[in-house]
Order: sequence, then C-alpha cells, then structure tokens
Amino acid sequence: EMLKNDFVSNVSHELKTPLAVIQNYATLLQSDNLSDEERRQYSRRIGEASSRLSVLVSNILLLSRLENQKIMPARHPFNLSEALCRCILNYESALDEKDIELITELDQDLIVSSDENLLDMVWNNLLSNAVKFTPEHGRIEVLIKKEGGTAAVKITDNGCGIDGKSVRHIFDKFYQADASHATQGNGLGLALTKRIVDLLEGDIFVESAPGKGASFTVELKV
Ligand code: ADP
Repeated sequence: EMLKNDFVSNVSHELKTPLAVIQNYATLLQSDNLSDEERRQYSRRIGEASSRLSVLVSNILLLSRLENQKIMPARHPFNLSEALCRCILNYESALDEKDIELITELDQDLIVSSDENLLDMVWNNLLSNAVKFTPEHGRIEVLIKKEGGTAAVKITDNGCGIDGKSVRHIFDKFYQADASHATQGNGLGLALTKRIVDLLEGDIFVESAPGKGASFTVELKV
C-alpha cells in the first residue's frame, strides 16, 4: 500500500510540473500585445511540456505492462553491433553539440537471439544518460565483447558519476540522484532498463564513483 501511495504521489508530481507549464504559457498566449517571437517561444514551451508528458505517460504504461507480465519478448537473432550503431546515430548531434568524443570497440559478428526492440530501449536509455551526465569535451566509450556464451555491452562515460548511496537506488522508479538534470528526465529510464533486462534473462551492472564517471554493463546470453 505504501509503495502504491508513493507511486501515485510521484506520478502526480511528475504530471503536475509540465501541466503547470502548459497552463501558464497558454494564459500568457492570451495577452493582446505579444510580439511574434514571444508567441513562437510560448507555443514552443507548450510543445516541449506536452512531449514530456507524452514520454512520461508512455514510460508509465510500459513499466506497468512489464511489471504485470503483459509483455512477451519477441526473440529473433540479430546483429548486436548493428543494433547499437543504429541507436548511436540518434545521438550524433547531441554528441557534436557537447563536443563529446565517442570511442567504439564493437565485435562486428556477434549475433544474439533476443528482443531487438526492447533492447533498443535499453541502449537508448543508457546512451541518453551517458550524453546527459557527461560534460562538454567529455568521452563516452561503447564496447561489445563476447565472453564464453555471454555478450557484454559496456557503456562508459567520464561524467559526474554517482555516489555509493545513490547507486543502490538508481533502478528504482522515479529516483534521480543528480538534481541539476532533474528536468531532463523523470527517473524512469533505468527502472525500465532493469525490468527489460530481467525479462530478457540478462544482467545489468553499474560501476561508478562521484566525479569519476559511470559504467553500465548489460550481459545477454548469446
Ligand atoms: P533520468 O530520467 O533522471 O535520467 P534514470 O532512471 O535514467 O532517470 O536515471 C536515474 C538516475 O541515475 C539519474 O537521475 C542520475 O542521477 C543517475 N544516472 C543514470 N545514469 C547516469 C550516468 N551515466 N552518470 C551519472 N549519473 C547517472
């Protein structure tokens, strides 16, 4: 019951913030003497807050379907490094903008039999966090290795890192350790990531220390 109450209050809080933004800018848009630039800026803010709401609602629905075992993995063999390269391409402009160096070491021929779409969500969450928490001129490394019957994907950054106390909670729903980036996420990314990896019978590990960056490893059976 306590967990349920926490969840409801977290969801309500996360919904209220973008809703308040939408309400405020909608009110401002009703003023008579606005310049074209102000009008554009206010509508842009409404658009951004709506997108945040939409991502939040999709994440909550997906999380609930994962927790209630409503999702059956659709397994098929696919090339792991091709899948990761496709995801990395989505971050090209974000990496350029922050002048982040990307190092990749990918075993090109590694085929795994798993749910490619669900895993795309895992790579996207880990990569977007790496980009978000790495400062300008930083470095991100993506490694894929085969060890015995296991494929390991390791995404390492040299960003702000996570302290020992917070690291125990990062897979909890709505948990955010770093307050300075709180508005750029909702603390559901790693909760979803962990549940997807569990569903696919894999493992996820994190190594991190404050100021020393973070390293996330996902292990999957080949
Ligand atoms: P968010 O939407 O805030 O990114 P996540 O569930 O993806 O939520 O991550 C939870 C928290 O874990 C983040 O708010 C951040 O404090 C911490 N975290 C995740 N990835 C990293 C990383 N690569 N470097 C530093 N901190 C991270």
